[in-house]
Amino acid sequence: MKNYSMNTKCVQGGYTPGNGEPRQIPIIQSTTFKYETSEAMGALFDLEAEGYFYTRLQNPTNDMVAKKIAELEGGTAAMLTSSGQAANFFALFNICEAGSHIVASSSIYGGTFNLIAVTMAKMGIDCTFVSPDATEEELNAAFKENTRALFGETIANPALTVLDIEKFAKVAHAHGVPLIVDNTFPTPVNCQPIKWGADIVTHSTTKYMDGHGAAVGGAIVDSGNFDWMAHADKFPGLCTPDDSYHGITYAERFGNAGAFITKATVQLMRDLGSIQSPQNAFYLNLGLESLHVRMPRHVENGQAVAEFLETQPQVASVSYPTLPSNKYYERAKKYLPNGGCGVVSFELKGGRAAAEAFMKELKLAAIETHVADARTCCLNPATSTHRQMTDEQLAAAGIPAGLIRISCGLEDKEDLIADLKQALAAINA
Ligand SMILES: *Cc1c(COP(=O)(O)O)cnc(C)c1O
Repeated sequence: MKNYSMNTKCVQGGYTPGNGEPRQIPIIQSTTFKYETSEAMGALFDLEAEGYFYTRLQNPTNDMVAKKIAELEGGTAAMLTSSGQAANFFALFNICEAGSHIVASSSIYGGTFNLIAVTMAKMGIDCTFVSPDATEEELNAAFKENTRALFGETIANPALTVLDIEKFAKVAHAHGVPLIVDNTFPTPVNCQPIKWGADIVTHSTTKYMDGHGAAVGGAIVDSGNFDWMAHADKFPGLCTPDDSYHGITYAERFGNAGAFITKATVQLMRDLGSIQSPQNAFYLNLGLESLHVRMPRHVENGQAVAEFLETQPQVASVSYPTLPSNKYYERAKKYLPNGGCGVVSFELKGGRAAAEAFMKELKLAAIETHVADARTCCLNPATSTHRQMTDEQLAAAGIPAGLIRISCGLEDKEDLIADLKQALAAINA
């Protein structure tokens, strides 16, 4: 699929049926796989032969869908996980252990922030958070001798900041560590972080990739570009024998193209077991088949809604990276030439009460703790995800009480704008 365009890879990547084989990716709904001899199975356990023995480690359906995602991101290997949370945890924990340190952008998804700042800290893995707008000197200053990864989100959920991937990659590489980028919001259709120097790309496939609010899932893609052996002292898990796996040295046996995903599969997935069900992988693939058709419409609707909101007197501010008024406009032009995603944030002047009243009036946009699917949805953090915080605490966290995050779906943009218009009129009355 290498020579085909993104559009073709979305539809046909990952799986090419042979004569008389199923046209659609088959769902291999089986926990286990049969062998004629113990020797044949033994070769699989020794990683000397390729094949399947237990779905907790690998399943053909999952592998076909992962292969498509690797092709879309321009990577050499990929794996599916049960959720986006599992993808980010596995990507980091594959190269970190107690005593390691991570540098991460502070502008990331709340679940990932908790994972790194609280749960991984309990495991003895520390983090220094940096501004997504940090200068090279500020980024350099955050690194320590035990730093093992730099982490950020291409477009952050929900802050909608845009990561300077090239700059972050340059600093990470100067310190001999990989840059891990969560590319959930733009998807590879709108940005391929590997092209800009990212080494590992992660996804919550729950969002646009699935695109229909049908299945929770995640993915990790390896660029194959990071030279683990050149920094062997930092990555003993990849560059020295794994006692829990017959003394295999992943970086030697599988090279830069395969070591990271192989280790994450046979070691982390074996021990932590966060697999995606083959049924969910099938749903994910249905979403991927139209990702290249859906993303431009999400962008078109997001842009139209953002531009409309910006003209409304009740709206204090609108945040959308491809609005000329946005702080990240120039960066978005570089990294997101075809637009970013369908998520728009805006603040109503009337604060919490206005936001609540406004959302109650919406007919098309449903109130949901979700983003990035076919149906438009919205959320007021102050009365939902962040409802334990006071107005003062919210303001300090950069989430004003009147902030609404709207995820523009695939409906007609004129209908979406008319819905917003009538809700604004209703709260004015
Ligand atoms: C939703 C999300 C996650 C977490 O993914 P789940 O599939 O919900 O576990 C991680 N990163 C980003 C950017 C997200 O939007």
